[in-house]
Amino acid sequence: MLLRRLRQVMAEPAPAQARLDRIVVLIASNMVSEVCSLYVMRADQTLELYATEGLNREAVHLTTMRTGEGLVGLIAQNAEPLALSDAQTHPAFSYRPETGEEVYHGFLGVPVLRAGNTLGVLVVQNRAHRVYAEEEVEALQTTSMVLAELIASGELQALGQPGTQPAARGPLFVKGSALADGLGLGYVVLHEPRVVIRDIIAGDVEAELVRLDDALGAVRTSIDEMLERGDIAHGGEHREVLETFRMFAHDPGWLRRMRDAVRTGITAEAAVERVQSDSRARLMRATDPYLRERLHDLDDLANRLLHRLVGRDLVAPRAELPDNAIIVARMLGPAALLDYDRARLRGLVLEEGGETSHIAIVARALNIPVVSEVEGATSLVESGDAIIVDGGAGEIQIRPPADVENAYAVKARLRARRQAQYRLLRDVPAVTRDGVEIALQLNAGLLVDLPHLEETGAAGVGLFRTELQFMIAERMPSAKDQQALYASVFDAAGDRPITFRSLDIGGDKLLPYMPRVEEENPALGWRAIRIALDRPALLRVQARALLRAASGRHLRIMFPMVATTAEFEQAKHLVDGELNWLRNNGGPLPAKLSLGAMVEVPSLLFEMDEIAHAADFLSVGSNDLMQFLFATDRGNKLVADRFDPLSRAPLRALRSVVERAGARDVPVTVCGEMAGRPLEAMTLIGIGIRSLSMSAASVGPVKAMILALDAGALADLIRTEISRSGSPQSLRAALSEFAAREGVPV
Ligand code: PEP
Ligand code: MG
Repeated sequence: MLLRRLRQVMAEPAPAQARLDRIVVLIASNMVSEVCSLYVMRADQTLELYATEGLNREAVHLTTMRTGEGLVGLIAQNAEPLALSDAQTHPAFSYRPETGEEVYHGFLGVPVLRAGNTLGVLVVQNRAHRVYAEEEVEALQTTSMVLAELIASGELQALGQPGTQPAARGPLFVKGSALADGLGLGYVVLHEPRVVIRDIIAGDVEAELVRLDDALGAVRTSIDEMLERGDIAHGGEHREVLETFRMFAHDPGWLRRMRDAVRTGITAEAAVERVQSDSRARLMRATDPYLRERLHDLDDLANRLLHRLVGRDLVAPRAELPDNAIIVARMLGPAALLDYDRARLRGLVLEEGGETSHIAIVARALNIPVVSEVEGATSLVESGDAIIVDGGAGEIQIRPPADVENAYAVKARLRARRQAQYRLLRDVPAVTRDGVEIALQLNAGLLVDLPHLEETGAAGVGLFRTELQFMIAERMPSAKDQQALYASVFDAAGDRPITFRSLDIGGDKLLPYMPRVEEENPALGWRAIRIALDRPALLRVQARALLRAASGRHLRIMFPMVATTAEFEQAKHLVDGELNWLRNNGGPLPAKLSLGAMVEVPSLLFEMDEIAHAADFLSVGSNDLMQFLFATDRGNKLVADRFDPLSRAPLRALRSVVERAGARDVPVTVCGEMAGRPLEAMTLIGIGIRSLSMSAASVGPVKAMILALDAGALADLIRTEISRSGSPQSLRAALSEFAAREGVPV
């Protein structure tokens, strides 16, 4: 009855405050309490009294509490109900004279939750030392769902002051981590759309219990079927995840809580949502990563149940994608990203996904700005919310106010103008002021990368990461699939050279369909050329696909993670074997074959003469080389920025590579991220590197730097700085000063 009355009041055409005032009266009388108050969570994370029956009305919109302060703040912080027979003796009680609450003892407060976020706190109080029963706590929690809906609708925004409006629908600035550069303005599209529950109030409780049981039964069966079918990889679901699902789906406690919620008078879907919101609120506060991981499983399961109850498919039809779509997802695989219409995508926000994750690589290839590590992103937004993704700064603006939006729009226009200037440089040769020619090449790995060759005017592909095809596939690409991709790459590149890197898997690059090997130190483990030499069939198949695809063209292959010249020679032997096989069996052969080694394991630095003798070319993978030189995990934020690649030790190492390879006329390229950052690229040129390979977005800025550079003057400076001793170890300041003095844009 109460729920129905509340819905009626909410639907009345009266002003929001008047309706709130009536709602608290209704709740107070229904709970037989003298007081009912609603506190709303504001954007500044304080709770403001929005309505009260029983306390002093003058205090409305005046009384505020910080999260964690007073009983109300405590409830918000813990996201759990609190029932006390004498509130005033509780250590957290904080007396506010303006409210006149000194005469009340019995106290019950519940968080107003939505998708696990605390939108406010609802409190009832009594003069008597009343002990609220478990059913009453349940009832008030159910009531709070209706209020959550009201707050989330945005209707209360008008009652707050700018800056301290309700957090639920207000502007929100969130810092995450920068995954792919760029600026995107658009509207939220939830990758896994939340089911919007329209019917909260149950018509017939018994019927709702049956619906709940039926839906849960169906979800359990579908999980069992998926496990039995065994084609786990098909939906991107791993067995482990499904096993966990199955465990949760059979958890009696979970079912009991949902059934109890239905018995308070709500529909089956509202009960699923309520129980999930409670679990979310609690698990989000857990510090144990294992528990937090379980939250995702529970979320997925609840989502499946909700879809089953409201009878909709899990995946939204792609046709619904609006223009200027910004995808918000917990996690997203590269294949799922490629499913979206690129022309409408403006950005991506993820709760999880590291710097070197596959999604980052694909998003950069597609030039889509990405911010990741945004905690709770999917529950902070609703579909259709305005949102800005600043991939360079690693920040997002949710529902930005007009001035913020304007500022970003200006920034986006400036960016576009700069991009236009870089496009003008497309056909200008990359030659320094003093006539040193630099080969600017692209890093690529997907067909979608190749149009960038034409757009940027790059000289070729310096690093083609063949593992990407393997990483985004659901099953191991066949020899035919591989050959088809390589042939398309050759066709797309035309006369420009392409350097294919043989499979660089293992470490952080796992294939969903390959058994996972438990390793203590995966970066130092079974990966790249080590796998290739231990499982030669993999490399053989790939080499044959490459040799065939090249058909009359120049084929360049390089091997990743080469630690010794002997490893290179073994790999070369395998490729030569395939070449001979093709020669003997007839079939198209490449016009020329060049084999190179990546320099990314420090041991190779001390075998430079041998490797330069054996290989046709070298390519420095500075990402890994720096990781191993400094012994700092490239994916670990705690240490990733600890050492500067522009300090003496790595620069001396790189210079010796240039010198030793140069002595044998073996060309050296740098293809790690360093090569794409103007100041770093400038430095590499200063120590003698003449070929750089980078992402498409870097070509313009690096070329602009080259055109303004006097490479001779820079080489002199570096020669002096690099051989000095004492601090600072890093040449960064000296190099930046040089660039500023010479007017080199870095
Ligand atoms: C590198 O290590 O610098 C490199 C180019 O390879 P990846 O980033 O793919 O390991
Ligand atoms: Mg590498």
